[in-house]
Amino acid sequence: MSKIHNYSAGPCILPPEVLQEAADAVRQWEGQGLSLIEMSHRSKPFVAVMDECRALTKELLGLPDRFEVLYLQGGASLGFLTAAYNFLPEGGRAAYTDTGTWAANAIKEARHLGDVDVVASSKAENYNHIPTLGEVHSGHAYLHITTNNTIYGTQYAEMPKVPVPLVADMSSDIMSRTFDPEPFALIYGGVQKNMGPAGAVMYAVDRERLGATGRNIPSYLDLNVHLSKDSMFNTPPVFSVFTTLLTLRWLQAQGGVAAIQQVNEAKSALLYSEIDRNPLFVGHALMGSRSHMNVTFRLNHEEHAAAFDKSWNEAGISGLKGHRSVGGYRASMYNALPLESVQVLVDVMKELERTQG
Ligand SMILES: *Cc1c(COP(=O)(O)O)cnc(C)c1O
Repeated sequence: MSKIHNYSAGPCILPPEVLQEAADAVRQWEGQGLSLIEMSHRSKPFVAVMDECRALTKELLGLPDRFEVLYLQGGASLGFLTAAYNFLPEGGRAAYTDTGTWAANAIKEARHLGDVDVVASSKAENYNHIPTLGEVHSGHAYLHITTNNTIYGTQYAEMPKVPVPLVADMSSDIMSRTFDPEPFALIYGGVQKNMGPAGAVMYAVDRERLGATGRNIPSYLDLNVHLSKDSMFNTPPVFSVFTTLLTLRWLQAQGGVAAIQQVNEAKSALLYSEIDRNPLFVGHALMGSRSHMNVTFRLNHEEHAAAFDKSWNEAGISGLKGHRSVGGYRASMYNALPLESVQVLVDVMKELERTQG
């Protein structure tokens, strides 16, 4: 089998050694005589997996002690509601930025529980940039941001500075770059973009800021309930958590988040410089808002599409088609995608210019 260069936006590429170890554990795990997925989640070996996964997440992100990490179900989509339940007080308001489809979904869910002020939106420009922030004041319980907009290929270059805590959906750039956790009350994200296989959502929450909404929160949505049960309130998604742990160990072996950030920046620089240089292509996201994870671009002339699509398919590239709301192409370059795969795509783009330009 020839090598596939996997640009899937999610579920995403995982390191080959992680896939091998996960596959082995599904057959028979560490001499337990059982598969990882057919034994009790309350068994000693699995409890150790959950504990290590939570601790390693905290270590890799450099989170202060007051933060607690949980691995739950429902994806980031339930996270939109969970965030509001735990941080939007009864009768309160929160500020949200509208930077893409997922950000808009977060706003929609929060509106079930309180007032939302949309303090910035780039919707009118098809979300091609991170908009300048409007007024955020102490009457807002928090500011919610989507740090990386997976569909549109935009990313906050820097986290906003506001007088209230930040709540962030980091689904598609968690573990890809370092950031200062100090202003955050809650960080959450589906693991399937950059941390592991689908099935789990990660919450990193400042425990000291929990429990202040005055709400009677349904059990599964109450982060304090999950904290009191060490992320085992109910059956956790064992395969997803285990494979996420393997991916985090792999990341640690690469030198951690700061080291992978350098690789990610080299990958995105290589592709953006080709988009900017090559007269056949144009980027979607504006300079200053460009994502290091999801690079959105299109052909200047649709008549080159057939030749381009044929070439990248023949080069073993997979998952490059853009999301229907942007069109064109999207190269998702999560942590496990090697620089070499980006070079293959850039070579195909250069070759297109040589033959069609
Ligand atoms: C994929 C994605 C989601 C949705 O995640 P689910 O785990 O499928 O609910 C939310 N936010 C962002 C930024 C995403 O990329």
